[in-house]
Amino acid sequence: MSDASRFEALAQPGVRRLKAYDPGHDLVALRRRVSPGGASAQLLIELGSNENSHGPSPLARQAVLDELATLFRYPDPLGGDLKRALAKHHGIEPAQILLGNGSHELLMQLAQVFAGPDTDVVASRYGFAVYAIAAQAAGAALRLAEALPRTATMPNGHDPDALEAAVTPATRLMFFANPNNPTGTWFPTARLEQLLRTVPEHVLVVVDEAYLEYADAPELVSAIGLLSRHPNLIVTRTFSKAYGLAGLRIGYAVAHPGLIAVMERVRESFNVNGPGLAAAVAALGDRAHLAWVRDRNAEERAWLASQLGQRGYFVHPSQTNFLLVAFGPGTAALESALLAQGVVLRPMSGYGLADCLRITVGTRSENQRLLQALDGVAR
Ligand code: PMP
Repeated sequence: MSDASRFEALAQPGVRRLKAYDPGHDLVALRRRVSPGGASAQLLIELGSNENSHGPSPLARQAVLDELATLFRYPDPLGGDLKRALAKHHGIEPAQILLGNGSHELLMQLAQVFAGPDTDVVASRYGFAVYAIAAQAAGAALRLAEALPRTATMPNGHDPDALEAAVTPATRLMFFANPNNPTGTWFPTARLEQLLRTVPEHVLVVVDEAYLEYADAPELVSAIGLLSRHPNLIVTRTFSKAYGLAGLRIGYAVAHPGLIAVMERVRESFNVNGPGLAAAVAALGDRAHLAWVRDRNAEERAWLASQLGQRGYFVHPSQTNFLLVAFGPGTAALESALLAQGVVLRPMSGYGLADCLRITVGTRSENQRLLQALDGVAR
């Protein structure tokens, strides 16, 4: 037996079947290729990872600098300042909050704590890839609810009826994002509340709101307001998207204090770093910057969607900072050609959407560069 297959056999059964999370292209290598001196990444248009094209609050940058003096100390293991700031912001108790090294960590931890062999986890087709990894790594079976099929005029999107129907007596967790990655689509908060009333108590419903700060549809508001009526609800949020702090890795979960207390038992002792904690407090306090980011994104999202629509591509409606766009059968070749022009988008074949690319909404000049490159290669 080769070493590789020996280690494979030694791994837990759930891990044996796993494929690692695919973060897209090797951006560091691409940046070096485009700018070998490393002086500038300007030539690369990075629209593949749904980051904030407008950057974080200047107050968050300053908070990171202020933290440099105490880098030799461990960070606050309780994350007290950030939890208090978040509690005030959301109108909840600090004991309802769990901090994570990004929300990805929290999604994994939820499955570690609440799923396992002989349980199942419900997620939707075209949902965020981490839900399947979390379920399988915990040894649970994944039950995939069918998504709404795409037509000439209707986008792919989650089907709440199918999610409800996928629940079995063995279901412990249900994961979905609202709005969703990679489709950008959403369903109304009222429909979410109906789902919470429908699913049995043994199912913990995880609503991933990584992109919620970008949403402006009146029917879509945070599920955090539903927590007092639905104790089996867990909402995850992140500072990686609209707050522009992806590099610092800070996410949080909001849930019943009893659930948070159970989750705390397996949290790594100093899982959120000091600069990250300080930057998150500062970013949360800068409501004007967040509103500016949201407005800029909404404007650019509408502009880019209409530009792509005019070129005949189907653009999924989006409440996020990205667009899922159907380019047809030549999508893979188109993606490679754009990459050769220095435009990085996210291929979707891993999600079963091989005719689509996911495009982060950039700044106006980034979006123009993308369209220019597209017009050059798509003719
Ligand atoms: N949920 C969704 C829907 C995401 O798209 C992402 C990042 N792409 C995450 C969670 C994880 O983000 P982070 O770990 O940076 O908080």
